[in-house]
Amino acid sequence: MIKGLNFLSTLTELMVNRESAGGLCVACLSTNAFNGLCLPCHADLPTNRWHCQSCALPLPYAATGLVCGDCLASPPPFSRTLIPWRYQFPVDGMITRYKYNGQRKFARPLVAGLGQYLSKNLEQKDAIVPDLLIPAPMHHQRRRKRGFNQAQDIAEQLGRQLGIPVASGLVRRKRKVRAQRELNREERLTNLNGVFRIIGTVPERVAIVDDVVTTGATARVLGKALREAGALDIQVWALARTPG
Ligand SMILES: [Zn+2]
Ligand SMILES: [Zn+2]
Repeated sequence: MIKGLNFLSTLTELMVNRESAGGLCVACLSTNAFNGLCLPCHADLPTNRWHCQSCALPLPYAATGLVCGDCLASPPPFSRTLIPWRYQFPVDGMITRYKYNGQRKFARPLVAGLGQYLSKNLEQKDAIVPDLLIPAPMHHQRRRKRGFNQAQDIAEQLGRQLGIPVASGLVRRKRKVRAQRELNREERLTNLNGVFRIIGTVPERVAIVDDVVTTGATARVLGKALREAGALDIQVWALARTPG
């Protein structure tokens, strides 16, 4: 019986691998990619090694435990940000294909890698395991246009990988705002003022999940709303961080 099950799971794995193997590598265009990335390119992904302890802003030099100027001047409502990659080639292209063309396979190696990065971090002594993952919400009109909310999609995959429940509909966007990418940092914060509405009970420990953190404005405003709704510890988890 057990042998039979093992055989079945090996067979399923082979089928899954065959289905996604042999594609084009999004980074080097070689034809032996697995989920959009060949092995050497996977090993070469731009890791966000040196970064602000608080908001994961990439630092241009080797340093650990440093906090960036922004976080010093105005401490964010979250305790830590865990982001394994920088928003650079080929991570930027992979996320764009995933988000705007709905090609989920390009996000698969990134989400799996984020899951491993988080597991490693959650094993550390001072780590706080969230009670609930909260995907950064998208306005329903934008969601309809795109077909899915990538933050919800990523949170659900992480939730399964880490065994943490995922909120759905706990936070709503009250109104449609201008696309954040058209705005500078100050404008982004004002643009989002009072935009999130919490519907329901927020547990003490939560993690906001998003695909990319750019200025951290969304995480700050959403974090503030969650804090006001009762969250005591808020983390931010994402695939990639832009340099500023
Ligand atoms: Zn490649
Ligand atoms: Zn910072």
